[in-house]
Amino acid sequence: MVDSFDEECDYLFKAVLTGDSAVGKSNLLSRFARDEFHLDSKPTIGVEFAYRNVRVGDKLIKAQIWDTAGQERFRAITSSYYRGALGALLVYDITRRATFDSIKKWLHELREFGNPDIVIVLVGNKLDLGSSREVDLEDGKSFAEREGLCFMETSALENLNVEDAFLQMITKIHEITSQKIL
Ligand code: GDP
Repeated sequence: MVDSFDEECDYLFKAVLTGDSAVGKSNLLSRFARDEFHLDSKPTIGVEFAYRNVRVGDKLIKAQIWDTAGQERFRAITSSYYRGALGALLVYDITRRATFDSIKKWLHELREFGNPDIVIVLVGNKLDLGSSREVDLEDGKSFAEREGLCFMETSALENLNVEDAFLQMITKIHEITSQKIL
């Protein structure tokens, strides 16, 4: 359940989007944060983020989600981008095999610079382009299982599973965080 931006929240956490250029990171975020999709979106260079409040049980959580805003094209993401992140959506494009092959590299960076308990959801985006698929559902699934990641295929364009992918991450972070508080 989602609440308005201004409501007081119980806690705030940072999450990041990562993956190759043009896999749909910015559109996944704008879909989740503002329910918008942009055919030719390319934000100006620099890190951007968006907030959304989500209610999990009796807690109101403010998720601050960072977008690389194109920096990944120049391999210019610095460790500060990942610092303090409790969650990540690691995104590839199911119609471009090369973006899936890069996942190992992005995962390595996340594990090197992110929080040790970071919750990672592997996301195969552009599910609406299934007829041009170059990465099988099973490939994504088994990679995620091997690496202990959550997994989901999404379409930012058709708004398929986008909410679920973010909520899976947020709920899991909440579980881990509340166990630590207890
Ligand atoms: P980023 O570089 O990873 O942030 O990718 P963008 O969000 O800028 O998207 C790159 C391109 O892919 C844009 O032209 C988007 O319109 C398009 N795109 C993003 N998500 C989807 C999707 O789910 N389906 C389709 N068909 N196109 C998408």
